[in-house]
Amino acid sequence: MPYNFAPMPDENGYFGEYGGQIIPPQLKEIMDDINDAYEQVRQTDAFEQELAELNTDYTGRPSPIYFARRLSEHVGGAGIFLKREDLNHTGAHKINHCLGEALLARHMGKTKVLAETGAGQHGVALATACALVGIECEIHMGEIDIEKEHPNVTKMKILGCKLVPVSRGTRTLKDAVDSAFEEYLKDPVNSFYAIGSVVGPHPFPKMVRDFQSIVGIEARAQFLEKQGKLPDIITACVGGGSNAMGLFTAFLQDEAVKMVGVEPAGLGLDTPDNAATLTLGSKGAIHGFECYNLQDEEGNPLPVYSIASGLDYPGVGPQHCYLKDIKRVQYETADDKECLDAFMTLSRLEGIIPALESAHAVAYAMRIAGSMDKNQTILINLSGRGDKDADFVAEKLGL
Ligand SMILES: *Cc1c(COP(=O)(O)O)cnc(C)c1O
Repeated sequence: MPYNFAPMPDENGYFGEYGGQIIPPQLKEIMDDINDAYEQVRQTDAFEQELAELNTDYTGRPSPIYFARRLSEHVGGAGIFLKREDLNHTGAHKINHCLGEALLARHMGKTKVLAETGAGQHGVALATACALVGIECEIHMGEIDIEKEHPNVTKMKILGCKLVPVSRGTRTLKDAVDSAFEEYLKDPVNSFYAIGSVVGPHPFPKMVRDFQSIVGIEARAQFLEKQGKLPDIITACVGGGSNAMGLFTAFLQDEAVKMVGVEPAGLGLDTPDNAATLTLGSKGAIHGFECYNLQDEEGNPLPVYSIASGLDYPGVGPQHCYLKDIKRVQYETADDKECLDAFMTLSRLEGIIPALESAHAVAYAMRIAGSMDKNQTILINLSGRGDKDADFVAEKLGL
């Protein structure tokens, strides 16, 4: 199935006033090369076919849409449906854009793919895609995260990627970004920096969105076929914003469909321990692009926190910023407590253990379904499965 060629961004990579390329001229040339190669290759049948075949035979697409009957009855009100990205090979939506990026890197004759990872989800998905495509993969990861995320670290090693422990600074994601980026700058001609969400300089917000838009294209057709109408509300969690853009893109023209992105409120919006960038942030630049930011008075990124480390980013995808400003998408939050409750409720009523990231969207749906009509519907993008979170939650709840 072809992915969606949405009309944004403009040729400079802007979605309204967000996005762009806030980078040195030398790097701008490289990014423009990537954009040219992408625009050229995505129009070829060979690329489209290879990606479509991998989506089907490797990832297991299309992922089903599932009516969560017991959860809907429990909440009372609107019917709640799940787009099951948790059933993809590697257990989340990230494989959708990692396959696209690895294929593009190979097409461009790059010899190495580089990235950072926080919790290890992007690292595992990318190492998987690189093993498949046959290209060298190097992942930078903070030492603290390496200790915390043992299963993902082991998987990356098994998949044959070079794991570089980062011992500077806070020894977490931010320093891993700096470390991986420095390595990339040593040889940007032969290496490819694979960004893990709809963030970073142009063309990454566009490319990652396009590779993810398969989620919404499938979901729209599946829902129409199953229900004979479109959902009233579609919702997804927002970290950088890739799974949300993946779902939303195919529905942007459907004015009757309300779209809601859910950010992590962590310990509360009135505490410093959250990552609700669109809700509380202000305009600024981060990692090569302009967006809403959680920043201090000097424009430095603030530390962010939530129970789902995959959502903890002080910036957010530029298209989300634009969609917020034009009010096409509404952005809400769910806190750690609601998220844990949604995690357990979905597990016990449906036998589906969601990723803590995805549980934020489930929490929002559970909050509003009760006030909706029985014949109304909510579609949640269940971006990933919760195997990675099971031990943590069990310990936290004393199970
Ligand atoms: C990484 C991750 C996210 C957050 O990334 P987005 O780019 O905001 O989608 C959400 N859910 C899961 C399961 C993830 O692994």
